Amino acid sequence: MRSHVAARASSRCLHRAKPPSYVVIQVAQNATVSQASSSYGAPGYDADIPPPSILSKPTASQNRSRYDPDMFWRKVRPFRNVNATEFLSTRWQRQFKVNTQAKLEAFINEAVPEVLPPSKDPKQRHIRTKGDFIDDIIQGMPKAGMNIGLTPYFLSIIDWTNPLGDPVLRQCLPQKSLQLPDHPMSMLDSLSEKADSPFEGLVHRYPHKILFLAATTCPSYCVGCTRSYAVGPHTDLVNKSRPRQGRRAWQRAFDYIHEHPEIADVVVSGGDTYELQPEHLREIAESLFAIPHINRFRFATRGLSFMPMRILDPQDGWARAVIDITRKGRELGKEVAVHTQFNHPHEISWVTEEAARLLFKEGVIVRNQTVLGRGINDNVETMGALIRGLADINFKPYYVYQADMVQFTEHMRTPLSTILRLEKELRGTIAGHCIPHFVVDLPGGGGKRLAQSYERYENGVAEYISPVLKYKSEKPDVYKYYDPLA
Ligand code: SF4
Repeated sequence: MRSHVAARASSRCLHRAKPPSYVVIQVAQNATVSQASSSYGAPGYDADIPPPSILSKPTASQNRSRYDPDMFWRKVRPFRNVNATEFLSTRWQRQFKVNTQAKLEAFINEAVPEVLPPSKDPKQRHIRTKGDFIDDIIQGMPKAGMNIGLTPYFLSIIDWTNPLGDPVLRQCLPQKSLQLPDHPMSMLDSLSEKADSPFEGLVHRYPHKILFLAATTCPSYCVGCTRSYAVGPHTDLVNKSRPRQGRRAWQRAFDYIHEHPEIADVVVSGGDTYELQPEHLREIAESLFAIPHINRFRFATRGLSFMPMRILDPQDGWARAVIDITRKGRELGKEVAVHTQFNHPHEISWVTEEAARLLFKEGVIVRNQTVLGRGINDNVETMGALIRGLADINFKPYYVYQADMVQFTEHMRTPLSTILRLEKELRGTIAGHCIPHFVVDLPGGGGKRLAQSYERYENGVAEYISPVLKYKSEKPDVYKYYDPLA
C-alpha cells in the first residue's frame, strides 16, 4: 500500500480534485458555473505533495511492464494533466466515469485524432475520420444490450490514436460496423439462469453450488455481458430484470442456503462485487461463515481489471475487507477467493501488478476467467501472453470461456474451432498448473463442459452431454452450441 505521506496527500488533494477535460466540456454544455471554469494547472505533481511511494521507486515488476513505470494515462489526451494522486484514487475514478453519450462524445473528441489509421478489418475500412468513428459508436449504442460505463482507468489502457482495432475498446464500446444479426438460437438469458432460480437473485444449477447475485451494477460495462438480461441500466432493447437488493433479499438467499445442506460452495456475484461496500462484503461473509455446510465462497469481480487502484487505495476498505475475510476463512478451514476477468494482456498495467502483489502477499487467492472474444484474444499469441501475464502476477488462469450465445453480442463470438485450436496450441507451452480449462457454458443451462468434450461437432454445431444436472428433470440430455453464421 502507499505510504502514510501519500495517503495524506491523497486525501488532501481529493478536496480539490479537478475533472478531466471531457467533464469540463460536459459541464460547460450544461452551463453549471461552479466547475465550468476548472482547469488542470501545470503538469506534474503538485509542488508540495510528494508522489506516492509506489511511483517513486519502480519495482522489478514495473520495469518489466509494457507501460512506463509512470503516469501512462497521460498518453491519453483528456488525462494529460491528471496527477497520480487523483488517478490512483477510487473516488476520482468513480467521479469521472464516462457513462453517458455526451461524456463519451466529448472524451472521444479530445482523445482521437481527426484522421484515423486505416482499419485492417474490411468492415471498418469506411471509418476514416474521428466523426465517422463517433457516428459508428453512437449508431451502435441503440443496438446493444448493455449501456456504456467506463472508468478513466479502463479508458486509459485503450490506444486512442488507433482505436479501430483496439482489443480493450471492442470489449466496452458498441460499434455498428462490427455488429451482426443474432443467431436464431441466441437468447437474452442464454444460460437459462432464470429457469434455475428458485427466486430472483439466486441461481441453483449445480447440486453443491449456488450463484448469489448480490449486486446489479458494475464499475464498467462489457458489450458481451452474459448476464445482460439483468445487469446495469435498461437499454433501448433490454428491460433488465434486476433482482431485488438489500438486506431482506440477501436474508432470503441465506435462508435458502441454510435449508439446503447439500450446498457447499457459493459464488457471490452480480453485477460485480466491486460495487459492494466493504461492510457489505463483511456482512455477506459473516452470514456464509455462520452456515456450517458452506465450505468455500468467492467474490466475483472484474474490478481488478476495470479499476485496480481500489486495491491499493488507503482511503478504500474493499481490499482490507477481502483480506480480513480470507484470514478468517483460513482460521475456520473455509476457502475464500476472488474470481476476476481479464481478457487481454493490455489490461495488465503496473497498477494491476502492484494490486496483485498486495493480494498475493496477504494470501488472497485470485482466479481469472477469460472470455474468448472475436478480434480481442482469439489468436495464440494474445491468449498465450494473457495466460502467462496472469500467471506471472499470481492470478491463477482458471477458465477460458467460449463466448455465450447472448442476443446482441453475435459479433463477439468465434466458432468453437477457435477455442479448440487455442487449447491445442497452448497446452504444453505453459506450465500445466497455469493452463486454464477451455470451456463452453452450455446454452440452455447445461453447465460448463470442456470445449473438447463434445460428442459431435459438424457443420458448425457442437453437441454435448451434461451428466450432473439433476435439478430439473425436464432438462434435455443433449445441449448444442452453434457457431456464428458470419
Ligand atoms: S463485469 Fe461481468 S457482469 Fe459486469 S458487465 Fe462485465 S461481464 Fe457483465
